[in-house]
Amino acid sequence: MMRLPAFRYRAPRTLEEASAWLAESPDDTMLVAGGTDVLPNMKRRQQVPGTLIALRSLRELSAIATGEAGASSGRHASLRSAAGGTVIGAGVTLATLVRDEHVRTTIPGLCQAAIQVATPHLRNMGTLGGNLCLDTRCTYYDQTYEWRKAIDFCLKKDGTICWVATSSPRCLAVSSTDTAPMLQALGARVRLVSAQGARELSVADLYQNDGMHYLARRRDEVLADVTVPDQTGWRSTYWKLRRRGSFDFPVAAVAAAARLDAGGLVEEVRLVAGAVASRPLGAPKAEALLLGQSLTDERIAAAAHAVYDIAKPMDNTDFELVWRKRMITTLATCALREIRGDDMRATRQRLARQLV
Ligand SMILES: Cc1cc2nc3c(=O)[nH]c(=O)nc-3n(C[C@H](O)[C@H](O)[C@H](O)COP(=O)(O)OP(=O)(O)OC[C@H]3O[C@@H](n4cnc5c(N)ncnc54)[C@H](O)[C@@H]3O)c2cc1C
Ligand code: SF4
Repeated sequence: MMRLPAFRYRAPRTLEEASAWLAESPDDTMLVAGGTDVLPNMKRRQQVPGTLIALRSLRELSAIATGEAGASSGRHASLRSAAGGTVIGAGVTLATLVRDEHVRTTIPGLCQAAIQVATPHLRNMGTLGGNLCLDTRCTYYDQTYEWRKAIDFCLKKDGTICWVATSSPRCLAVSSTDTAPMLQALGARVRLVSAQGARELSVADLYQNDGMHYLARRRDEVLADVTVPDQTGWRSTYWKLRRRGSFDFPVAAVAAAARLDAGGLVEEVRLVAGAVASRPLGAPKAEALLLGQSLTDERIAAAAHAVYDIAKPMDNTDFELVWRKRMITTLATCALREIRGDDMRATRQRLARQLV
């Protein structure tokens, strides 16, 4: 049985208290929300903070607020609401998120991404903030301490070499969060709070393509909430490849959000590839191919190929990497067909069994 290392546990009651405590020693302190990522990592000694600050009882982080007056849900409605948009507290569990009627109907892509995270049990504990800050993953890193010691440690923890690409100066661990690519495609923003104040970043700017330093969040900052802009007129969808139809992390994914005019021409579009680099990757060339066009099979094929071009999977997660890269074309095609209005339910079921 793997045991947790010794650590100090602190349970603040307000966001202000959490930020002040985090500022005391940010390099030796980690935040814990649902704990479904950080606690297994601590058991494997991938992360060994001296102090854990628990966010679970912070009421300020557990609400979903919409731009409509009085329309908010969750245990508390203390979040400021965005004009026409939706503000989701970082402490909202994924289970709460996918049950929320407003999210289900107005941000279907986010619902699809969140409902495909892990299992119902893990979604009951796992939060949106924890999902966005999820550690990057790698076959050579997500192992017990003894396993990693036996082959000698790697750059990301305790070592000096990358076992995936031995000449690489940086870690190539994979961004494996399901909600981040979708929130990036939705043009969402995050609010980061520290003892020094608050700042906002787009979700696109929250991530860096570096397996060790994958977040632009400072270590003394708490991710407080996520604002999804008004989705009126937008369609969104999320397509994910994983070995089992439930439970597993993504090993390739495509998130798409688009606004079409009455004649079906693309007015705005964002396409983001997930799990094929150390951060979610935007696909500006693919987007340019679609702007002002109708979503014909030919346009979709050209755009899907442009998403394929940016994907840089490495041999450090499940499935063979050339096939994973090829599947990006399939996922992008499916996403754009769903945006077009095709009924993709049967294809989704076949994808869950890798039959597409
Ligand atoms: C078997 C298994 C399968 C899984 N499958 C998937 C999957 O398919 N897709 C997927 O995306 N994830 C998956 N996960 C990972 C995890 O369950 C989810 O990502 C979950 O949403 C993490 O949320 P949490 O609240 O438990 O995070 P925690 O474990 O509490 O925290 C995760 C990280 O985020 C930081 N953090 C948490 N909250 C904040 C905050 N408010 N501000 C700043 N930093 C914060 C923590 O310090 C830590 O570094 C899986 C996990 C397991 C064990
Ligand atoms: S990509 Fe390289 S450095 Fe990063 S976790 Fe894997 S083996 Fe370690």
